This record gives sequence, C-alpha cells and structure tokens, in this order.
Amino acid sequence: MTSLTRAEAADRAELLTVESYDIDLDLTTGDTRFRSTTTIRFRAARPGSATFVEVKPAELRSVRLNDTPVDAAGLDGNRLPLSGLRAENVLVVEAEMAYTRTGEGLHRFVDPADGETYLYAMSFLDDGQRIFASFDQPDLKAPVTLSVTAPQGWVVAANGALDGTVTDGRRRFVTTRPLATYLVSLIAGPYHARHDEHDGIPLAIYCRRSLAAHLDKDADEIFTVTRQCLDRFHQLFDVRYPFGKYDQAFVPEFNAGAMENPGLVTIRDDYVFRSAVTDSQRELRACTIAHEMAHMWFGDLVTMRWWDDLWLNESFAEYLGSRVTAEATRFTAAWTTFGLRRKGWGYAADQRPSTHPVAPEEVADSAQALLNFDGISYAKGASVLRQLVAWVGDEAFLAGLNAHFAEHAYGNATLADLLAALRRAGGRDLSGWAAAWLREAQVNTLRVEAEVDGAGRYGEVAVVQTAPASHPVLRPHRIGLGLFDRSGTGVVLRERLEIDLDPAVDGGRTVVEGLRGQPAADLLLPNHGDLTYAKVRLDPASAAAVPLILPLLDDSLARAVLWTEMIEAVRDAERPVGDLVALVLAALPVETEAVVVEDVLWVAGRFIDRYLDPAGRSVARGLVAQACDRLLAGAAPGGSVQLAAAHGLIAAADDPARLAAWLAGDGVPAGIEVDDDLRWMLLHRLAVFGAVDQAAIDAEAARDRSAAGAEWAARCTAARPDPAAKERAWREIVGDLELSNRLIEARAAGFWQPEQVELTGSYVERYFAEMPEMARVRTPWVADEIAQLAFPAYAVDPRTRELAAALLARDDIEPGLRRMVTDADDDLRRALAARTGR
Ligand SMILES: [Zn+2]
Repeated sequence: MTSLTRAEAADRAELLTVESYDIDLDLTTGDTRFRSTTTIRFRAARPGSATFVEVKPAELRSVRLNDTPVDAAGLDGNRLPLSGLRAENVLVVEAEMAYTRTGEGLHRFVDPADGETYLYAMSFLDDGQRIFASFDQPDLKAPVTLSVTAPQGWVVAANGALDGTVTDGRRRFVTTRPLATYLVSLIAGPYHARHDEHDGIPLAIYCRRSLAAHLDKDADEIFTVTRQCLDRFHQLFDVRYPFGKYDQAFVPEFNAGAMENPGLVTIRDDYVFRSAVTDSQRELRACTIAHEMAHMWFGDLVTMRWWDDLWLNESFAEYLGSRVTAEATRFTAAWTTFGLRRKGWGYAADQRPSTHPVAPEEVADSAQALLNFDGISYAKGASVLRQLVAWVGDEAFLAGLNAHFAEHAYGNATLADLLAALRRAGGRDLSGWAAAWLREAQVNTLRVEAEVDGAGRYGEVAVVQTAPASHPVLRPHRIGLGLFDRSGTGVVLRERLEIDLDPAVDGGRTVVEGLRGQPAADLLLPNHGDLTYAKVRLDPASAAAVPLILPLLDDSLARAVLWTEMIEAVRDAERPVGDLVALVLAALPVETEAVVVEDVLWVAGRFIDRYLDPAGRSVARGLVAQACDRLLAGAAPGGSVQLAAAHGLIAAADDPARLAAWLAGDGVPAGIEVDDDLRWMLLHRLAVFGAVDQAAIDAEAARDRSAAGAEWAARCTAARPDPAAKERAWREIVGDLELSNRLIEARAAGFWQPEQVELTGSYVERYFAEMPEMARVRTPWVADEIAQLAFPAYAVDPRTRELAAALLARDDIEPGLRRMVTDADDDLRRALAARTGR
C-alpha cells in the first residue's frame, strides 16, 4: 500500500474541507467479510480539481461522486482518484471489507473459552481504511455518524452514545464532535458491561464474557481510578472532558497498550487480571487509564497537524499519565516507575543509531510515523516535559496548555503553536530551550566531580555535562542535588539543592558554590527528584558507598535514580555486569517497591543473558536467584514484593527440579498461589530446559482453555529444545498468515532461549534470509513485532553482525525491518563490547 506523504497531506488539506462522515456497517454478512458504506460530504476550494480517497477493501462494490458513478477499477492500492470536484461534494463508497486477525482494522476474535465472537475497530494511523473510506490524515477532522447492523444479542458501542432504539439489529449512534479519522472506533459482540456515572459523565467498562468475573472483581478499582483521573484533569484544565460518555473496552489480541478513541477507549484485555498480579501491574493499568484520558485533550480535542508532531500526543499523554496517577490515585509512586521503567526505554532508544529528535522537523510519510512510536516519542518526550515544568514553573506550564486548548479546540496544531502559547503564558522565550531539547537527538551525561579536603569538607564540587561525539549538544538543565548521610542504622537526606546547569554560561562545567566548605556527604546524588533527562555518574566516593546506602534509602525515587545510574553504566560498558549483580545481592533483598524488584530483575536478566558468556551467566543467575530467595523469605506473605520475587526466581532459576516441585505445589512459599499464570510461567521454564514434553503442555492447555492459555501454550511449544518443534514454530512465525497477531508473537517470544544457542544456530542465517519476505507479507505492526521478537538476540557473535550488515546494505527491505535490525544490531554491538571488554 502507498503510504501517505506529508506533502500530499498538506496539499489535500489545503484543497478539502470535510463536513461529515456517515459510516454504515453491516456485521451480519458472514465470518470473513462485512459491508461498509461511507458517505463523505466535503467542500473543495477549487472546483474542477482532483484528489483521492483512501480505502482498503476486499471488494470495492460501487463509488458515486455527486451521484455520478466512479470506476471502481481505478482503485490503485488503497487510493481511488476523484476528479471533477465541485464546491460541495457527496461521495458514497460501498465496499466489502475483510475482518482482520492482526489487530488492525476491524479485528475479529473467537474466544477459545466459549466460542463467542468479538470485534473491535482499530483505525489508528491509517487502518481506518480497512473499515471505511476516508481522507485519512489527522488534520481533516469531521463529525462522524455511525450506524451498525449486528447479530441478535450483541452489544455494540462506538465513539458516540447509542441514538434511540435498535430496530432489526440496526443501531445508530449520535453524531460525534469533529474527529480525526484515526480515532473512529467501535466494539461489537456479546461483551459484558458494567456501567457507572461520575460528575455528569456516563462511564462504562466492557470485556469478553469469559473474563466477566475477573472484571467485576476489579470494577470498583477501575471506576475509582477513572473518577479520580477525571477529577484531576478537570482541576488542571479549563476545558471539561469534551466527548460525552467515557467508555473503556478491554479487548482481545490488542497490539498496543490501549488506544485513545474519544468516548470509547480500547485497552488490551491482559489488563483484566485473571491471576494474582503485583501492585505495579495495577499501577500500570491505572497509568494507562490516565494516559488515554490525557489524550482526550492532547490528540483528540487538539490534534497534531501531521505525524511529525506525534510527540504532542504521546509525550504529553505519557507525562500527564504518570503525573495524574501519582497525584490523584493510590499509586503515589508512579514517578518511580516512570524513572526506572519508562526512562530506561527512552535512554536505550535515544542511544541507538536510529535515534531522532523528540519533535522531528519532518516525518516523510505515515509508514515512517509508525516507527516513531518508540521510547523517544513517549518516555524521552515526557521526561523533557517534566524538565520543562521544572524550568518554567507549573503555573506557566498549565496556563500555556489551557491557552493552547482554547485556541485549537476541535482543530489541529503544531509545535510552534504550543511554544507560542507557553511563551505568552510564561513570558519566557523557549526557542533556545526547544531547539536543544526537542530538535536534537541523544542524551547528555552529568558527572559529579567532588574535591574533599583532609578534614572531610568539600572543596570544589562541579557537575560536568558531556554529549556524545555524534550529537555534540549540551542542554540547559534544572536538577536537584541530594546530600545523604548515614545515621545510625539508616540514611537521612541532609540537604537538597536545586541548581541550573547553563552551558551557555559555564561551557558545561557548573560549580556548585553552595557546597564549598560543607562536610562531605556519604552520597551526593545528582538528579535527585529525577527532574531531568540525562545519564548521571556519581563521584567515586559516592559510587563506592552505593551498596551500603541504597538498601537504607526510604525514597523510592532516589533508589530508582541510583539503579538507573548503575544500569546505564553497565550498558555503556563502563562497569561490568558483575557490579549490577553485586548491587542486586546487596539491595534487592530489602526492596519494598514491586516495580523496582521487577524492573531491576528484568534488566539484569537481559544483561546476564547477553553480556556474559555461558559460565559467567550461570554464576550470575545463581546470585540473582539467591537474592530472590532472600527477598521471598523476608517479604510479607501475599504481598506484591513477594510475588515479584517469585516471578524473578522462576526466571532466574536454573534448577528444573525446584520448578517442577512448585508446579506440583511442593515447597511454594506461603502467600504464593500457584494460579493459572504462575503455572504457565513454571511450565515455560521447564519447557526451555526440556524438562516437560509436549503432552504436558497440551494437558495444561486442556486445563486452561482461555485465550491467554492458548498464547502460553504456543510460547511453551516454541521454547522446547526439540528440532521439530523449532522448525514448525519458525515456519509459522515467518509465513503462517492465518494465525492471529498474538499467537504468532507467542511463538516468536518462545523461540530463542539463551540456553539453546547451539540448537538454534542455523536459524541465525535463516532470520536474515527469511525476514524480508515475512515483512512484505505481514501487516506493518505485526511485521515489526516479529522482526524484533524473532531476532537472534543471544547469538552474540561477530558473524551475526556481519549478517545484519549485509541485510541492511540491501535497498529492498521494508522500513520497519530496517529499523528493527538496525536497533537489534546495535544492542549486539554493546553485548559484544561487554564480553570482550571492548
Ligand atoms: Zn498514547
């Protein structure tokens, strides 16, 4: 399919004004196709001119422009040319559309638990064209009136509320406020629903029937978080929630975390928890709710003009998601999660060869836009906004946002519009700030230099800012400096300073005058409060004290900054993985935040499996398992930390006998329930070791007939050290187009295991040989996922990099594959550097 370019979109926006979309869908015409009739009313600035409309039908049945037939054979890919436009036009497009199994367009899912069928629409980016005809670009917004004919007994919900009664299965929904085409959505099927109301806004949550009991159990928590977030946004913003009702539908096999369709947010139904989860997983759900709600203003009310301002959507939603979660819900440590988990994602993405500015000058087309939904547009952008708030003050920041909403409500805006609003509100010119932070890629390092005299007092203390040679840009930062002292059995914060680093004044070496002559602290922590986005490096004395001080620090955000400091130093091969493992042993057994346990173990596991050779890996895994065991022994039974420790132990354990015992219910710590997901986690590790056969996996799948069970079973099968199982899984990963997005991804997630490098050796070459075709035949989102998951990440060998270089030298590969291989190759480069000591 041809990807819409920025220039084409600009031309079309200049020519057309879309008045309305009338979309009529018939979902009663079989299991593979549905009927779609779109009526678009639009004006053209120059009568007699030509344009094109986008649609991706299974069969284009008829097209009429101003009551004159248009030849359907003119459809070229997804574009149908339209000529002879009048000042006022009516276009009617009738088509047969295909249901998808890839999470793009109108996804159709049959629940293995009970055979019921569920649909949901994902119009995001340019997949609305798989459902209805449209001028598919973010700045041609129009009111949408949707009608849907659905089978008896189905629930149908859409962006707008149901309008009147249902006749012969046909429902009409109220006309929406102007929407961007990528935000049109619906769900249809025998969905289970719960309703509520808050502050005059009707609320609903939906899920599959087979998940009803699990949703009901958490309905109070979900509605409570929703109400708290709505209230908080109404305090922050002058404009009330603008789209009537607020539905949140938990839908199956969803690609993203969630999607911000106005009035009908869709959320992956993995967030309907069927097994025990940690509070950090609940916090993630709350944060997702807050994130999507933030989009109602950022993205939905005011929409970016083109995808190069994607960050105006995602960075703001990410920032406000964490902020509102921390300020309004019980998950008050949301900034700790952001600091450790989300910023880590940002730092990793920002240091790869594919890095780009938060706000790129120009994104050429929509295919390129998809690749920018990454750690930079989300996590780095949100971090930069947090720094902006520290820089200009919260009052000016919010005043600027509110002016921006007032000016562009129901319309579109750009970075320049937002900066103008912020400048007017704060009276401070942000152009220099924006140039350094938003228009330049890569991350700075802030290194503390501290002189201490013979009496233990600070001489000169400085924060030295550096930039990578590839992007030699120093930035202004406002940061906290925390002075921590050991005291009795604990650690106290003696003082916190806030300082400005202004490279224009000091060339990047900022002397902290306030510290001269003060007694040296046991730990001098830069970026205390985590206000800026930068890698930090401690002074040597502070670094040496971390293993003693980190376990005693009450402040989880300060712990997150310290863990991140260690993790980024290991990634840069400035410190060995062994230092991180030693810190895990020293500090993790007394950790009190589940998210710290989960994230540190996850990152440590990635480093251990890739940066160490097999002998080193085995030793390191043993030490991590020891830390998990000590944490398990000390944590409150039934609590989140205990559960996180159990998950960590299962991932690190090299002892099949112990895992098998747990699966049989023997030796499980009190407070841990061996429920569905825990059973699958155990079985997955046992499958990796070859300690269970296919019959055991099949038996578990028969016991757990849920969709989640089917995904786990596929993953376990692909993980077995069995040549035939590997071969079958590989063929399905590369070319089985019948399997759903999730069932393919499950196979790819199970395929490569660090324990099976020899067994899977021949697939390293096959990856590079076969992925170009995979990426051509699969849809972009799924292809990108597979390219990433199926990459031979454990083949840490110069040969793998040679193969990657040969693939990247080709000019006939899909852009998504190019991005994924470029990034994965850079990760390999770092792994090789760590193994060889560079
Ligand atoms: Zn978002």
